[in-house]
Amino acid sequence: MSRFFSSKYDKLEPYTPGEQPKDLQYNKLNTNESPFPPLQAVKDAVASSRSLQLYSDPTCSDLLSKLAEVYGVGKDQVIAANGSDESLYFSFLAFCGQDCGAAFPDITYGFYPVFAEFTGTPYTEIPLKSDFTIDINDYIGINKTIFIANPNAPTGISLPVDEIEKIVKSNPDNVVIIDEAYVDFGGTTCLPLINKYDNLLVVRTFSKSRSLAGARLGFAFGNAALINDLNTIRYSTNPYNINTMTMAAGIASLENEDYTKNNCLAIIENRDYTVKELKNLGFEVLESKANFIFAKHPDLDGGWLYDELKRRGILVRHFTKERICQFNRITIGSREQMQALITELTDILSK
Ligand code: PMP
Repeated sequence: MSRFFSSKYDKLEPYTPGEQPKDLQYNKLNTNESPFPPLQAVKDAVASSRSLQLYSDPTCSDLLSKLAEVYGVGKDQVIAANGSDESLYFSFLAFCGQDCGAAFPDITYGFYPVFAEFTGTPYTEIPLKSDFTIDINDYIGINKTIFIANPNAPTGISLPVDEIEKIVKSNPDNVVIIDEAYVDFGGTTCLPLINKYDNLLVVRTFSKSRSLAGARLGFAFGNAALINDLNTIRYSTNPYNINTMTMAAGIASLENEDYTKNNCLAIIENRDYTVKELKNLGFEVLESKANFIFAKHPDLDGGWLYDELKRRGILVRHFTKERICQFNRITIGSREQMQALITELTDILSK
């Protein structure tokens, strides 16, 4: 730390992104990216996007029109962001603070506590039940801004929409943010509820099901007043948050919905295959509705297994938090990638 760094960040522990190694060609199952490349139509749209000497459109007009059309919402009910991380950051800035704390599960997306710290938001981490599901009673009428990833990460477990509705309904004076980064892989969206509740924000991303993690494009749906608040934050920090090439990529992706849907079906099939094989090998696997699974083996230490797989060229994600340190999170890739994982695990367990 330099002597110039603001003392208000003394205790800030930044988020640690998953590894993006450059040294070896890993079988990369660690950051929940899609194994499928973007369509040629998306690459073509990027190549022929508007001239780069001009600023990108700060209103994101064409992209928002397309999002509104595809998802059946009003154009004033949607905002685009530089990855869903930015929507989440804007939500902490807009809807939390000294006067309004945040609440989220103890085991969830690791960026929530970082954003809370960074924005000076007091926060409560509510323990998941022993089976890693959410007890919604913990969230009824708690008077805090609530962040729930659904499906949750890194567990993959999904919360039914009627349970989410109970949480939203019981906290009418607080915003409830439902982070649906992984919903396209078998979860159920609570998007229709934005027309019923003015305190619900639904956060989505192009990074997973739409194969555009590197383009950095997220979006969020909510009541027009909530979206307006987020735009106030956006215009006060980064009005050109979506660059021209990313905007073109997003629109082209939304014009090819079949590609995304078929890729999601392939991931679900590969997930079913992987879960079955892992269970045959004696792994405990949590019920996942995401493009990853969370698994542990009674005879293998979680940290050791992470290292051993890495040594064998397979990268998964391990978390050191005590409650989950015996698990590894495994992204679901192509069938070949998953077969290679099962081959290595079979070999490890035969030793
Ligand atoms: N929410 C959750 C639950 C995630 O796991 C991730 C991926 N790291 C994100 C949001 C952020 O995704 P992105 O910024 O790429 O849209």
